[in-house]
Amino acid sequence: MAPEGTTNGTSSAAPAANAMAGLQPLDPEEFRRHAHQMVDFVADYYKGIESFPVRSEVKPGYLRPLLPDVAPEQAESLDSILEDVRSHILPGVTHWQSPNFYAYFPSNSSTAGYLGEMLSGAINIVGFHWLASPAATELEMLMLDWVGRLLNLPEAFLHTGGTGGGVIQGTASEAVLVALLAARQKWVAKLTQGGDISQSEALSKLVVYTSDQAHSCVQKACMVAGIEKKNWRFLKTSFDTNFAIDPAVFEEAVKKDLEAGLVPAFLCATVGTTSSTAIDPLKALGTITQEHGMWMHVDAAYAGPACICPELRHHLDGVELVDSFCMNAHKWMLTNFDCSLLWVKDSKPLLDALSLQPEYLRNAASEASLVVDFKDWQLPLGRRFRSLKLWLVMRLYGANGIRAYLRKHIQLAAEFEELVRADERYEVLVPRTFALLCFRAKPPAGDPDNGRTLNATLLENVNKTGKLFFTHTVLDGVYTLRFCVGNSRTEREHVLAAWDVINQEAEKLLKGSA
Ligand SMILES: *Cc1c(COP(=O)(O)O)cnc(C)c1O
Repeated sequence: MAPEGTTNGTSSAAPAANAMAGLQPLDPEEFRRHAHQMVDFVADYYKGIESFPVRSEVKPGYLRPLLPDVAPEQAESLDSILEDVRSHILPGVTHWQSPNFYAYFPSNSSTAGYLGEMLSGAINIVGFHWLASPAATELEMLMLDWVGRLLNLPEAFLHTGGTGGGVIQGTASEAVLVALLAARQKWVAKLTQGGDISQSEALSKLVVYTSDQAHSCVQKACMVAGIEKKNWRFLKTSFDTNFAIDPAVFEEAVKKDLEAGLVPAFLCATVGTTSSTAIDPLKALGTITQEHGMWMHVDAAYAGPACICPELRHHLDGVELVDSFCMNAHKWMLTNFDCSLLWVKDSKPLLDALSLQPEYLRNAASEASLVVDFKDWQLPLGRRFRSLKLWLVMRLYGANGIRAYLRKHIQLAAEFEELVRADERYEVLVPRTFALLCFRAKPPAGDPDNGRTLNATLLENVNKTGKLFFTHTVLDGVYTLRFCVGNSRTEREHVLAAWDVINQEAEKLLKGSA
């Protein structure tokens, strides 16, 4: 604390004393007390989570009138803040951790994931390179090897394999961007080697392929990486292939681009698309990318974790032909957001694209190439100790526990599917592979908008009840309801209750239209 008399004589010591009236920044005993209070708050939140409407019902701009316009000058108490959380924040929360959440894809939380998050927050290092916290880098390498082995990824993708390895990114969006930057680096270096064309000319030739079902993050990666818009290819899919890429369509597009003097550079295939969990055929596509020296990335953000179950691993057949592979532990593997895992078969193009050695970070271990510096495998410099979350999840549940968890969701989705199939008022739109069901209420014959209004109204009416929350997509023009089982606490009774609510609302609608 500043001694008296150093305040320039303009203010008394009283405000300074007041300013210290709140918490000490990191006093261990104060931390213990407040953290216990927070843990109690969180446990009570989880206990009562089903009492909230799953989807928040607040109107845009609801919060500002409820909170002060300016930051408090004086310290406040945690009690008063938690009171505001209860009365002002929770009503504006959509409860992703509710067992009645079936929207989008899940964002898993678990006790293990939460504890790992706490520990990571407590240690709070910024592990940009090995020396900044050797344990952070080394545990991350080991965890990526652990999960890589569970997925039965080829040895080259592991840190023990020689050329490649895995890294934790924040999101699958960052993962595909990093992969594309590596591919871009590789291609531009190759094309400019002879000195005949400039970097920008080389860049303008690169073509990126993905399916029209790929996540929008592929498009964003193209925007950021400077791939010219005229060189983005969204390969057409349809009900005929269950929305997977037809390799013949890909091959034809590559051929056309080659004839036009362009350079097919990058393919992003998806295992488990966001709309309908379509699975692109990795083997057939990988054979084509290898033939042309293209970079192939696989986005398995949602479905990747399921492939640690031997009976589902075949969805990754062909992964030995690809250059990079991504799955989100934070979607469906019990690990709190964020924790997206990216593996590359060869780290050199990635390092060529993203390495820098500023003087203030130089150190003997890095210079002797004895260590991995993950700052060179990602966009930001700073990075959290996220591998702790994975480590706690893997140890507190075990691979078998995680498999049982995944299988339970798939089983519940299968039961939901049976209910839908047994009721002739509905139809399943594409075959179900994981724990997402795409279905709709059948429109009456000759319905002018092919069931769009009927199903959009049904969806909104169900969500308005607050008893569950699910969402929609459009598949080849068909308005589709998406029901994804994947919350940590969803049980059979929740799924059955959700089906009841959907039916009640459907009955009201169908009666109204009859
Ligand atoms: C959810 C999802 C993404 C985006 O994930 P982020 O980690 O939020 O970037 C990308 N691809 C697929 C297939 C997804 O399902």
